[in-house]
Amino acid sequence: MDCIFCKIVEGSIPSKKVFENEHVIAFHDIQPAAPLHLLIIPKKHIASMNDVEPEDWPLIGEIHRAAQQIAREQGIAETGYRLVNNCGPDSGQIVFHIHYHLLAGEKLGGLNVRSA
Ligand code: 5GP
Ligand code: ZN
Repeated sequence: MDCIFCKIVEGSIPSKKVFENEHVIAFHDIQPAAPLHLLIIPKKHIASMNDVEPEDWPLIGEIHRAAQQIAREQGIAETGYRLVNNCGPDSGQIVFHIHYHLLAGEKLGGLNVRSA
């Protein structure tokens, strides 16, 4: 399967990895939208939130658990962070391997993301 994030999981495409356990990896986004911009992904290929099967919900929990640990390790647990999942065309999802953006490192803009 031609999935860029599966290749990052395998290691055939390099990434700046900050976290790895049995189920999840996290690495720096190649085009950061905030001073700290990480992507947290399951090792298992799931295309998007629309494709999460009932047996995958614990894995989504694992991603949130990883986010909590990463936030502590990166020193942003107290200053704050935002965890974002894009799903489908209106969200602007471009990589169809489910991922959560962890954004932090400065006061982030509000949630009014309507296009002009
Ligand atoms: P989406 O819009 O699908 O939610 O976000 C995909 C994200 O993946 C984008 O922020 C983009 O910069 C990032 N990205 C795309 N290709 C690569 C890559 O090869 N390596 C890394 N580290 N990030 C990537
Ligand atoms: Zn994949």
